[in-house]
Amino acid sequence: MRYPKIRELGEAVKSLLSKPYTSSFPKTPHEPFDGFRGKPEHSEEFCVGCGACAESCPGNAIAVIDPDPKAKNKKPLMRKLELKYEKCNFCGICEANCITEKGITLTKQFDLALFDRNLARESIELELVTCELCGDIVTTKKHLLWIFRKLGVLAYGNPTLLLTAQREMLPVESGGAGEELRRPDIFKVLCPKCRKDVMMKDIYG
Ligand code: SF4
Ligand code: SF4
Repeated sequence: MRYPKIRELGEAVKSLLSKPYTSSFPKTPHEPFDGFRGKPEHSEEFCVGCGACAESCPGNAIAVIDPDPKAKNKKPLMRKLELKYEKCNFCGICEANCITEKGITLTKQFDLALFDRNLARESIELELVTCELCGDIVTTKKHLLWIFRKLGVLAYGNPTLLLTAQREMLPVESGGAGEELRRPDIFKVLCPKCRKDVMMKDIYG
């Protein structure tokens, strides 16, 4: 017969007398550590409805559901972003690829067991913009406005962006001072001297 070593015997006695290493969940609530990847959640405030999270999701857990643009029975047309979190593997790729960086975040919710899979659904809706000629869907209004703000004065190069922002009465943000003069600077508020410099630069390079 082999006898246990003294060190192993000591460890066994110590673990018998010490507190359990695991938590007593669900008897007491469990608070996950920082950086824990739980159920993803779209933000009504920061999501612009671009669909990048759905495109990059490996589990096919996010769906972009657009209505038929030809069936314009009720206005405005809305895009639905549906998260099926029973398909989520908590990889965090959606969060990492979100263009606004805060449109979808992985929360600390982990206790997600349900008897009915169909209850594991969450969605948000965003207003769509359609082409005034053919009626096809362009993207969401919030997405266009986000691009408009991101581009600043460069947005003057795209009438769709400009008109969408104009209808919302959004001002174009001018770029920082001290940069080299470029063609888009024509659309900034300038003093007469700078206006002349910009025009000369635009014409003669
Ligand atoms: S965490 Fe991963 S699997 Fe879950 S929704 Fe995001 S990208 Fe998809
Ligand atoms: S803004 Fe972010 S969360 Fe919203 S659809 Fe785009 S990638 Fe997804």
